[in-house]
Amino acid sequence: MVRTRFAPSPTGFLHIGGARTALFSWAFARHHQGQFVLRIEDTDLARSTPEAVQAILDGMNWLGLNHDEGPFYQTQRMDRYKAVIQQMLEAGTAYPCYTSTAELETLRAEQTARGDKPRYDGRWRPEPGKDLPALPVGINPVIRFRNPVDGVVAWDDLVKGRIEISNSEMDDLIIARADGTPTYNFCVVVDDWDMGITQVIRGDDHVNNTPRQINILNALGAPVPQYAHLSMILGDDGQKLSKRHGAVSVMQYDDEGYLPEAVINYLARLGWSHGDDEVFSREQFVEWFDLNHITPSAAQFNTQKLNWLNAHYIKQADEPRLAADVRRRLALRNAKDTATPSVESIVALYKDRAQTLVELTDAVEQLQGHPTPTAELKAQHLTEKTRPILAAFRDELSNVAWDIPSISAALKATLAAHNAKMPALAMPMRLALVGQTQTPSVDALIALFPKDEVLRRIDTLLACGN
Ligand code: GLU
Repeated sequence: MVRTRFAPSPTGFLHIGGARTALFSWAFARHHQGQFVLRIEDTDLARSTPEAVQAILDGMNWLGLNHDEGPFYQTQRMDRYKAVIQQMLEAGTAYPCYTSTAELETLRAEQTARGDKPRYDGRWRPEPGKDLPALPVGINPVIRFRNPVDGVVAWDDLVKGRIEISNSEMDDLIIARADGTPTYNFCVVVDDWDMGITQVIRGDDHVNNTPRQINILNALGAPVPQYAHLSMILGDDGQKLSKRHGAVSVMQYDDEGYLPEAVINYLARLGWSHGDDEVFSREQFVEWFDLNHITPSAAQFNTQKLNWLNAHYIKQADEPRLAADVRRRLALRNAKDTATPSVESIVALYKDRAQTLVELTDAVEQLQGHPTPTAELKAQHLTEKTRPILAAFRDELSNVAWDIPSISAALKATLAAHNAKMPALAMPMRLALVGQTQTPSVDALIALFPKDEVLRRIDTLLACGN
């Protein structure tokens, strides 16, 4: 049974990197009909906040990354960690160390002066026949893990390939502080063990922790999971992810009008591939996902591609859903839905050209509002030549049936009668209805509005001088 986990530290929002880690862990479990565990690594009390926990849960929920177990909180598992530390003390795989901070500083200074890497020298590490220093009074010891001194720790990373670290490069890690609280790497080990995690999929900033974690797992007689360390994500510019994109909360993508399925599809391709496939559903992704097609090199964020995918998913989305989303956004803007034209009809006309739901909402606000074109646009498109054409078209319109073919015929007839080309009428009409010139085809635009509203808007435009 495959069991994966996502183990965020709640010190900020769920950003793109974290979301991709969560997605890959989730998809791997789903692909293998396994289980996906959510664990909140909140032992850093100074930096963990309930708001950050909520932000992570909100982000996962928005992306639809449902977990089967948890959320487990490390702060609620302290008794368990302490019990395991006790077991290790009894088994001799951990030991108390009474070295004071001052002694450690002296040690560090000596090592640095010699040009050595600073490391704990094992002075309290018990060995057969070794005399330990005299027990100091009034000092609470830290607990250190008895790291093997010989050999190497090796694992076949599912992304990076074989990694080997010599034990001689590692000193004895502190697993409990003097106040008895367990440390980060130790909690992760006990959790992965207790939660039966079979594949640890996480960011490659944890590669350095892995040999220590494997050594502790071995000391506990616990099975060692497989590891897959995902390479980092760079920004559009090849630099570290910036606030503009990626380094922000996934919920900001919601604010900016991205659909969760577009973000999922986008994240799936950040470092993973299935041939040349770019557009695929969540179900397809789960079916295809494996750890063999993850690239070990850094992935690069590409805002244009995200926008392109989002436009695709908006086009695909059904109109009632888009309309409901636009109404939610209008309410957040304190904009009233005047229903003229209806949100549904605007969405239907604009969804093929919108890259984001924010753009769709803008279109609704614009069409329902009372448009006032800028003086420049009026000067450009409402001229001595076009005014009479617009006025004639108004008269023509008042007599036509209210459907796109009839409106289109009236447009052509008016233009023919004035020996003019489409822009001479289309542009002023766009100004009358929307206040600007970027719109879908003008006959479809006109048909969105009730006839009397169109006549009223034309009158308003004609009434204003240039
Ligand atoms: N809590 C760690 C983080 O947020 C992840 C630890 C892990 O996946 O092992 O970076």
